Formats: sequence, structure tokens, C-alpha cells
Amino acid sequence: MAIGYEPVIGLEVHAQLTTATKAFCSCPTSYGARPNTNTCPVCLGHPGTLPVLNENLVRFAARVGLATNCSIRYSSTFSRKNYFYPDLPKGYQVSQYEDPICYAGHVEIETDDGIKRIGLTRIHMEEDSGKSIHDLDVDTLIDLNRSGVPLIEIVSEPDIRTSKEAGLYLKTLRQTLVYLGVCDGNMEEGSLRCDANVSVRPIGQAAFGTKTEIKNLNSFRNVEKAIEYEIQRQISVLESGGSIDQATMLWDAGAQQTRVMRMKEQAHDYRYFPEPDLVTVVISQEQLNELREGLPELGLAKKQRFMRQYGLPAYDAAILTDDGELARWYEEACAALSQQSEQAFKAVSNWILTDVLRRMGENKQTVSHVGITTQQLASLVDAVVQGLISNAVAKEVLVDLFETDKLAQDIIDEKGLRQVSDTDTIRTLVQQVIEANPENLTKYKAGKTNLFGFFVGQALKASGGAANPSIVKEIMQEALDALVM
Ligand code: ADP
Ligand code: ZN
Ligand code: MG
Repeated sequence: MAIGYEPVIGLEVHAQLTTATKAFCSCPTSYGARPNTNTCPVCLGHPGTLPVLNENLVRFAARVGLATNCSIRYSSTFSRKNYFYPDLPKGYQVSQYEDPICYAGHVEIETDDGIKRIGLTRIHMEEDSGKSIHDLDVDTLIDLNRSGVPLIEIVSEPDIRTSKEAGLYLKTLRQTLVYLGVCDGNMEEGSLRCDANVSVRPIGQAAFGTKTEIKNLNSFRNVEKAIEYEIQRQISVLESGGSIDQATMLWDAGAQQTRVMRMKEQAHDYRYFPEPDLVTVVISQEQLNELREGLPELGLAKKQRFMRQYGLPAYDAAILTDDGELARWYEEACAALSQQSEQAFKAVSNWILTDVLRRMGENKQTVSHVGITTQQLASLVDAVVQGLISNAVAKEVLVDLFETDKLAQDIIDEKGLRQVSDTDTIRTLVQQVIEANPENLTKYKAGKTNLFGFFVGQALKASGGAANPSIVKEIMQEALDALVM
């Protein structure tokens, strides 16, 4: 008899911090420099050199801790994590062990069943290793530009239950780091890396099952796929009477499966010990208060505010707040509207979600460089709300807004696009349309009232799109009503 299994997942996320210089020397952290040029005796691990702590590493780590509801240690220490690898010239990585700077926090994710809290065990500071390049047709090459770049490692509690939740958690975390301006969030370039710990247990069992750890997942897709694969693999091992061996795995994206990298018996013993060359990291209550006050409004809170303040649907609010710059741009456009109404706020959102985002995608530009200003978009929405132009004509005007610095009003006047709202003109138009369609009029009179849309459409068409649709509807209804009676 088949029993159900429940997956248990915990993520360990490494985020590269966007400090200008490295963790313990003044080398630049810029990505893509010529190999081994961003280096000095300290980050090359020469004997006799001494590390000097970059204050921004502490500030950035504490900022993330505060934004994720962690407790922050007023004093914490660095340790050496010892292992041998060619891209680690010192033979150890400076990290934190017993007293990480942040602990006991949580992140809120928005699942289909509502808000769920994922606990954070700890966030600690450490330095990155160098990079071994294996995938060339020559010997392995070593680039030490990354050696000593500051990282934080964010360790979650085993609170995640599905691969989808894992993806949501990672997206939320990424968004938070980018909003805070401490990490560029680029998974492809390795600025954000994820190890996933996965186990399964029979539903109803309190104790966790044995976990495996999948290393170095470098895209959201791979995170979700690797976890899903591993869950199914573990369930089938258990179903066939086997047991799970504790192991470190790799995700083979080509074969779409996890592979064992090392078993528990080969597990690393890092022999952590206190780093003697660095003093205790101290952060004061005043510094923490200052950091707390400097926290921006984060993604989920902003999304909820957008729904409240602008009356937007969740879908719109989620897209607009996904990126802090776009959210700022949206609010600036709304502020520039001459008439503040939910109808206008929604219209601004509609234009962004369709034409503006499409342009951004096509031209690979951010919203600030896409060729339209917030004032211009607001002028377009104003023109539609005031009945100067229809939505169809607005689409044409938008093209000109992208091409020029003009406001909608000017383009409308120059091109004579002003919508006809004059009731006498529209009444004549309506009469002409009714007279030109006697058969449909007969059907309409006989009860086919859904032909109303046909008549309105004909009148709008006859006006070349210039007639105000709501006035056309009103007058058409009056005219038809009069004929039916
Ligand atoms: P280790 O000592 O093997 O590094 P930790 O206790 O430090 O394990 O946990 C590392 C990560 O694994 C954390 O994110 C934690 O939430 C997760 N984790 C711990 N136990 C399990 C389990 N049984 N199943 C899934 N994830 C787990
Ligand atoms: Zn250096
Ligand atoms: Mg661990």
C-alpha cells in the first residue's frame, strides 16, 4: 500500500555583496575584469599579510538581517574554515561559525494558500574563494579575482515543503537583497548561489528523514527542478524498501538528474578555529537604529500598499513592485496625473504592463531609459480620462510619445486627433448608421438586442475612431429605444 510522503527542504543561499572593495583588502569587486587583475598580496593569501575588515560588509549584513526580522549580535567573531582547494590559496576561508552576526529571523512568502513564514536560522559573513575554470580544452585555470569578495550566507530553517515554495522563497530573498541594494541578484554570474537540503518523511511522522544536499544551483529553474527530482528519487528509494544515504549531490543540468558528489564518510571536517588576525566585530545600538531607519519599503509590503492606495489588482501590483525602479516610476506617473482616480491609476498600470514593458524588453532598457517620461505617460492617461481621445487613438499617440519629448495634448492638437464629443454630430452619425442597416434594425426590433454592439461599432467606424464611444453608446441607445417603442 502506497503511503504519502512530505518533502522537507532548507536552503543555504550565498549572496555576493555589492561593496566596492573586497572583504579584507581594498581590491575592487567588479565582475568581468581580466583574470587575476583584481588581486593583492592579502587576497592572494601571501604569508605575512594582514586582513583589514571592510566596514560595509558588516553594515550590509546587518541591513539584510534587519530586513529579514533577525536578531543582530552586538559582537560577533570570524573563524577560519580550513580546506584545501587550488582556488583557495590561504588554505582556509574566513567565515563566521559559532556567533553569526544575524540569527533567528524569517521571510514571508506569498503562496497560493496565503502568506507563509520561512524561518532563518542565521546569516553570517564570509569571503568568497577564487574560481577554477575547468570547461576549456586545456588544463584547469584559476582566477583569483573573486578571492576575498564579501558574501553573506543565509541559512533557512527546514520550513519549506515543496519545490515551488523553494522557488518562491528564493525569489523573495533575491528581491529583498536587490531592494536593499546589497546584491545584484544575478544568478548567472554567481552573485546569488543556492544549496538545497532535501529530505522526505511519511506524512504524519514528526521526525525528519535523512537529508541530501544539492550544491551550487545557479538558476531558479535548476533549483526547482533539482529539488523536485531529488524528492521523487528519495521517495522511490524508500518505496522500494531502501534507505536514504546522507550525501552531497550535484545537479547535472544536461542529464536532468542529481548525482552523488561525496558521501557522509567523505564529508569535510573543516576544523573551524577563531581567526586570530581579525578583531571582534562590534555593532552598536545606535548603528542598528540608524540602519533600521534607513530600510526601504520591501516588495511584499509595497505590493500590498499598491493594492490599497491605487486600487490595483494583485497581478498588476506584483509586476509593478517586482523591481524597485519600476515601482518608483509608477508612483511618479500617478503623482503627475491631473486627476487622481483609481480609474486613472489602473490606466497607468495598463500602459506599463503592456506597451512600456514590451518596449523595455525589446530594447533591453530599464524604465528610465525606455524613451517615455512619467509626465508623458500621465498626459496620455489624462487625455483618455478627460475624453479627448479614445483608447484606440491613445495607442497611436503613445508611439509619438516614445519618439518625441512632447506631451499627449500637443500631439493630439497637432495631428487633429481630438475625439468628437459634439452630440449633434454624433446624433447625425447614429441616424445614418441606423438607416444604412435596415435588416439588422428589424432583427433588433424583434428582440435581438445584442445587435446594439454592432450599431455602436458601425458608428465608431464611420467616425474614423474619432467619436467618443460613451457618448455614441448613449445616443445610439436613445435612438434605438425610440424606434422600438
Ligand atoms: P549540516 O550540519 O548538514 O550542514 P544544518 O543543520 O547546518 O546541516 O542545516 C543545513 C541546512 O539544511 C539548513 O538550511 C536546514 O534547514 C536544512 N536541513 C536540516 N535538516 C534537514 C532535513 N532533515 N531535511 C531537509 N533540510 C534540512
Ligand atoms: Zn586584494
Ligand atoms: Mg551547516
